Amino acid sequence: MDALTLFDSHAHYNDRRFGEEFEGGGRGAFLRAHEEGVAFFCNVGSSVRTSEESVRLAEEFDFVVAAAGIHPQDAQEIPAEDCDKALVRIEELCRHERVRALGEIGFDYHWEPVDKARQAYFFEAQLEIARRADLPVIIHSRDAAGDTFDMISRHPENRGVLHSFSGHAEGARQYNKMGWHVSFSGPVTYKNAAKVKEAAAAVREDLLLIETDCPYLPPVPHRGEINYSGYLKHTCAAVAELRGISPEECAALTMANAKRFFGID
Ligand SMILES: [Zn+2]
Repeated sequence: MDALTLFDSHAHYNDRRFGEEFEGGGRGAFLRAHEEGVAFFCNVGSSVRTSEESVRLAEEFDFVVAAAGIHPQDAQEIPAEDCDKALVRIEELCRHERVRALGEIGFDYHWEPVDKARQAYFFEAQLEIARRADLPVIIHSRDAAGDTFDMISRHPENRGVLHSFSGHAEGARQYNKMGWHVSFSGPVTYKNAAKVKEAAAAVREDLLLIETDCPYLPPVPHRGEINYSGYLKHTCAAVAELRGISPEECAALTMANAKRFFGID
């Protein structure tokens, strides 16, 4: 496969795990991916600290944009008296010129203990911050499809993306109807992922994104390794095949969609 020109719409290059396989850690990994044809990246925050790190990366490299937000599991670790201070800081970061999305936010009911009230408080407060900042949001939803859909349905003024989508085709169509993007990562390449494959084939052309979510979720044939944006070509090729288009067409399509989503000319 020739090098594809790709936009990785969701990565976590501040993650220390990159150091296990890449010389120079996360920085070494994304610079290598950039040389290999990944033209743009969105580095996504999950806490105040990682959001600040994302902004610093986007200040340093003009091909990186940042997302700032508090992930539902991180939201549960903040002492009660510090919650509003954390949200104020996220709102400040959202006014930074290099921050082009708010995220990642949402619901995660996978790991115990689950504090649904705390997760919903942060989810809703950050939807409101995104609206005030006029930014799209990046949604993380794990084992929480119904509650996620209800929350988004109650906020028709927000726009965004369902990242690393794991729902079915009908769910993807419903989000598209509300104008929401749907993004696919490594699992779309897995043999046993029939449901996700159907969803990737069903998403509306102008609302389709791809991502790595690296260092997590490596695609086939790199399962078990530390993921990085250099492996995004496998996800791109899998999505292309499901949609009956070439990898180059899929790369161009998702590049144009991501540039529009993140406000890059
Ligand atoms: Zn993520």
